[in-house]
Parts: sequence; C-alpha cells; structure tokens
Amino acid sequence: MIRNRENVKVLLWNESFSELYTTDDNVEFRLNKVCVSAFNHELCHLCINQVFGGVFPDLYIRMPYELKEFLPRDCVQHISNCIEHKLFYNLYLEIGGMKDRFIVDYELVKGNNFHKKVTKLNLNNLHLYLGNLYSIIGDCNDRIDYKRVLTDYRKLNPKIFDSCNLLLEEIKSLGINEPAEEFIITDEGIIINKTIGSLSESFWTVVFDEFNN
Ligand SMILES: [Zn+2]
Repeated sequence: MIRNRENVKVLLWNESFSELYTTDDNVEFRLNKVCVSAFNHELCHLCINQVFGGVFPDLYIRMPYELKEFLPRDCVQHISNCIEHKLFYNLYLEIGGMKDRFIVDYELVKGNNFHKKVTKLNLNNLHLYLGNLYSIIGDCNDRIDYKRVLTDYRKLNPKIFDSCNLLLEEIKSLGINEPAEEFIITDEGIIINKTIGSLSESFWTVVFDEFNN
C-alpha cells in the first residue's frame, strides 16, 4: 500500500521490458526506457493492485497443492498478468497509453506453435498450454485473428479451455471502477480478494479434476 512519496520509486533499468515491483510498503516502477506508455502500463498494474490486491495472490493461493509441482509460480504470474492486461487495457488507453506500445511484443502472434506440436494435454505440458492460451486470450491486439488457433487449443481440452475463458471473463466483468468489498487476510499476511479467490478456486477445481480421474 502506498503511504507517502518515499514509498514510490521510478528507475530505469537495463532489461528489455518494464515491470512493477511491489513489496508490502514500497512500489518501484522499473522502466526499460523513458516512455509514457511503459509508465502508464505499470501504473495500471498498480491500480489493479490497489483496487483488487492484484490477481496473482488470489490465483496462486487457491491452486491445489498437487498442481504446484507442475505449474511454477512464474506460470501463474504470467496468467495473472494476462488477465490484468485485459482488465485495464481501456484504462491504459484512456490515460494516454499508445496501442502499439502496450507491451513489448504487441505485434507478435502469440501462442502459435504449442497446439501444432502437442496432441494430448498432460500434467507435464499443462504449464505450456495455460501459458500460451492466456497469451492469446489476454492479447489486447485486436488486429490479430486467433479464431482458428483457438479452435485447436479448445480441442486439446474443452473443459480447461472453457474454464480459462470463464475465469478471464468473470474477472474482467468485475471492472476496475468499484473497489472490491471483501478481503481476507491469510495467516501469512497475504491479502485475498474474496470474489477473485472463489473464482480462482472454481477454475483450479476444473483443471485439477481433468487429471485426477
Ligand atoms: Zn503488464
């Protein structure tokens, strides 16, 4: 939570991407170039953090223990990121962000190869499936047509595919104008948004059940 200006830092770093780094008390905008769009993008992540407590903690904490071995933290972080992008894209444009600077690989066609190489979904390629699928359904570049590719992704596992879309749509429908009403603080001190927490739980139940029979 931002309490005063000493808690907020903006720095330029040598990575090829920008990111928002937050701890309990501090926020760092780590930008790869001086660019209003890059700053606005991270500002929108911060907005989601402040309104929702972010998507990641809710999604990660609700993941069944048995899946943690197969889905690394980075993968869940990526999924959360893609969901947040869909949530705040309009806000990003409203505050002056440029479309083609929304993300570094804005023009890239996402997730285009996984479905060609894989014939069956299993626990070992699940992280690639979810990662690629969320890159596609979370892509804000409306000039790229993913219809055919998505048909192939759905064929690999209709239940998980539908559940991924549902999670995205449900979180999107919460909007970012109304602050969440209910939070839970876990024993570890993590702030959980009750609504996103229960949506995440339903999502993981579908995923887990597909491999647990
Ligand atoms: Zn982002």
